[in-house]
Amino acid sequence: MSNTPSDRNDNSRESAKQSVNVAVLGATGSIGTATIDVLQNLNRVDAQQAWHLWAASGHRNLDSLVELARQFPTPPQRLIMSDVETAQSSPLLDQSGDERLCQTSIQQGAEALVAAAEAAEVDVVVAAIVGRAGLESTLAAVRAGKRVALANKETLVVAGPVVSQAAQQSGSHLLPVDSEHSAIFQCIQAAQSPPKKLILTASGGPFRTWTREQMAAATPDSALAHPTWDMGPKISIDSATMMNKALEIIEARWLFGLPAEAIEVVVHPQSIIHSMVEFEDGSVIAQLSPPDMRLPIQYALTYPRRLPCTSPPMDLTKSWDLTLEVPDMERFPALQLGFEVARMGGTAGAVLNAANEEAVGLFLAGKIRFTDIADGCRDVLQAHDFESNPPLNRLLELDQWARKQLQTRFGLESKRR
Ligand code: NAD
Ligand code: MG
Repeated sequence: MSNTPSDRNDNSRESAKQSVNVAVLGATGSIGTATIDVLQNLNRVDAQQAWHLWAASGHRNLDSLVELARQFPTPPQRLIMSDVETAQSSPLLDQSGDERLCQTSIQQGAEALVAAAEAAEVDVVVAAIVGRAGLESTLAAVRAGKRVALANKETLVVAGPVVSQAAQQSGSHLLPVDSEHSAIFQCIQAAQSPPKKLILTASGGPFRTWTREQMAAATPDSALAHPTWDMGPKISIDSATMMNKALEIIEARWLFGLPAEAIEVVVHPQSIIHSMVEFEDGSVIAQLSPPDMRLPIQYALTYPRRLPCTSPPMDLTKSWDLTLEVPDMERFPALQLGFEVARMGGTAGAVLNAANEEAVGLFLAGKIRFTDIADGCRDVLQAHDFESNPPLNRLLELDQWARKQLQTRFGLESKRR
């Protein structure tokens, strides 16, 4: 089919753009689908770069992966279904009937995630897998010197020193996607000065005003109903316990290289101020925008450029209540754990993260109470033999140990995934 003159103009404009190949790992999740939106927006508004979805992964649902791949004019090189069991029991995708996807390689398993993360063709890896499962592929991207848009905070919680050192060696640029860390990053850019104190905001989650007794009886549905953010189930429960903020304290510690003592948390229920930074002279700079992850995702991709974004701007024709509250560590003991673990470093992050992932799974399965999550994590953390400078394999062993320990704490034996 011959091109019309306007097609030809479009095509020459496209070819004049610099291509950016993006691997979105965890593409079917909340951050993953928002990233797909962002890439499509960038292809409309970015005059300099053409954004290609080079690889995309999902854990169990090939149909959703295929669906999102079809949204791009150039098909991805790889679609990865990371769960081998599901991949092997699912019917094979019939690519013969789909001209656009017939060149796409459909791969499976965790090794395929690592291979995509380090592939020479890939410029940017969006690390959007949930939990410790994202560690190997994120670390592979870092070791390969990629730009990494990091949503998968658990990687830094489990292995902060290993990842930071790998980034230093490879020159990889880790750009935060987490809205608080993106805000801090933006405040530091704006000030062009080193930060003195990082002030992370927390929405307080759905149980911000609940008593411990009410929380002990909380159901998974009530804990999943976040008042300001629409997110995947694991981070929604983490927000309800405020373990999410605990993980973010540890994430901030490694991303910005400040000690736990220089990190504070304030509760800000409206989720408009995404975080703040205090500087040497006492001035505090904040970043504000309505709660929408497309903005921090896009900034991580285009930094240092700022381009029009599909997330809504602040509507200043209405009045805003922006309130700040001191967090209640008694009702939200997970937060205290975050500060302790950020202070301890070493093996503590891996143990806390694994115990929490296991506890969240058990709570969602109706096997433990909501308040058992943080209490169980504290017990497992206290029971572990702390090491200050563990190698990666020790952290991974401790991850397994902490999951079992958490089950034992509640008299539960689960089949290993
Ligand atoms: P989600 O549950 O919506 O999506 C998770 C993605 O990971 C899916 O694509 C899923 O298929 C994949 N996945 C699940 N288990 C996997 C496994 N074992 N191996 C490989 N892939 C697996 O989660 P989300 O809310 O998008 O969160 C993703 C990450 O981003 C988390 O680390 C979270 O803390 C962080 N984050 C999320 C938000 C948000 O608004 N959702 C905000 C800040 C940070
Ligand atoms: Mg966050």
